Amino acid sequence: MSKPVVAIVGRPNVGKSTLFNRLAGGLVAIVEDRPGVTRDRLYRDSEWLGRKFTIIDTGGIEFRNEQTSIPTQMRKQAEIAIEEADVIVLVVDAQLELTPDDEMIAQTLRRSRKPVVVAANKIESFANAELSELYRLGLGEPIPISAVHGMNIGDLLDEVLTHFPSQEEEEYDPDIIKIAAIGRPNVGKSSLVNSLLGEERVIVSNVPGTTRDAIDTAFEHEGKHYILIDTAGMRRKGRIDELTERYSVSRSLRAVDRCDVVLMLIEATEGVTEQDKKIAGYAHEAGKGIILVVNKWDLVDKDDKTMNRFENEIREELGFMRYAPTLFISAKTGQRVNRLLELVDFVAEQNSTRIATATLNTLVREWVHLNPPATDKGKRLKILYMTQVGVKPPTFVCFVNDADLMHFSYKRYLENQIRKSFGFEGSPIHLVIRQKD
Ligand code: GDP
Ligand code: GDP
Repeated sequence: MSKPVVAIVGRPNVGKSTLFNRLAGGLVAIVEDRPGVTRDRLYRDSEWLGRKFTIIDTGGIEFRNEQTSIPTQMRKQAEIAIEEADVIVLVVDAQLELTPDDEMIAQTLRRSRKPVVVAANKIESFANAELSELYRLGLGEPIPISAVHGMNIGDLLDEVLTHFPSQEEEEYDPDIIKIAAIGRPNVGKSSLVNSLLGEERVIVSNVPGTTRDAIDTAFEHEGKHYILIDTAGMRRKGRIDELTERYSVSRSLRAVDRCDVVLMLIEATEGVTEQDKKIAGYAHEAGKGIILVVNKWDLVDKDDKTMNRFENEIREELGFMRYAPTLFISAKTGQRVNRLLELVDFVAEQNSTRIATATLNTLVREWVHLNPPATDKGKRLKILYMTQVGVKPPTFVCFVNDADLMHFSYKRYLENQIRKSFGFEGSPIHLVIRQKD
């Protein structure tokens, strides 16, 4: 089930980032260390009444060199919100009169027909708030809030939640491998998909009635079934301009949420971009299988060392996912595209591998014997036992005598040993430390 997206829009200084931080604060803290994954300034996960969602602060999107005038930026931000979000929160400064910029944004939003909730911010006194002017925006009843004082935020969220799409569950058979091809515009996603589906022996059918506006594709290869999750820019070419698309990642994130294996397309001539890192980090955190697909390999002047060098560069850039296999392809010539599904099968299987507790603990004893934990102020960490509690991603719980004695580097050692013994290629693994009293 993918998370709904809520975008915050409004002209500068109305309180968007204050509201964003308010909504994102104090919620599901990430306790585990997840190396290499930086917290995003623009996208945060949040939760209200048990419903999880993603919030975007569009005001934080900067258009470096591209569009300079403030109204153009605001319009672009509104377009991105329309493109990305299920619900849009328009923030206005209720201490001031409406400005032409507020009205311009409101007009853009009205035309989109997306659900919009107007947040009348900076209300200091709720008893005699005068909001009648805000009805002029034509976006329904404004909700008075104070972002800075955290007042009425619950009412705002209640209203936002009423506009979320209904929570229909994905009805795909869990045995079907769901694949998402992700990457920036023009990296070759559509070409790859066409090349893959155009192969002999691939039987394609359309999937009716999948969630929202996504159109997934089902196909069959050598008796196995797959679903290709629809991602931005593949089916809707031309509907949005490239600039907007470049800054739109939440559709890709949704596709990641819904898939088992992510094909992260990287352009051979360009290497790993910031956006690639962001999406890769998200896939890593979500515990998905991942394959790094370097496309347009036909455009690269190569000698016998090029591939190695390139692979090292990628590993450097995406240091937190050294486990991901890399495939060098050309969607255009079809080079190695036929190897892709084999790799998808392998990674999907690795991502759902279960290790028996007895096997695991025989090895854990060996690992500890080979490299005993250091003592800390006379106390020594004891590993009581380890057990795998889940798959997709493989998740292990390690019971110890005293969790505070588990050093970061020792945890890393155990993770590395798990990988050395069992592979889990293309799959993140989670190791949770628990104290047993
Ligand atoms: P943004 O440019 O829309 O992201 O606006 P900011 O979140 O940066 O806020 C702009 C200014 O408005 C800051 O000085 C905030 O402290 C202030 N502000 C935000 N929310 C409130 C509020 O509820 N009441 C008051 N009085 N000031 C607020
Ligand atoms: P998308 O936006 O990620 O779906 O990218 P497209 O599949 O539309 O490809 C963008 C452009 O790159 C098109 O002109 C493709 O013909 C070209 N392209 C895609 N894959 C390759 C490739 O492997 N080699 C070369 N030379 N061009 C490619």
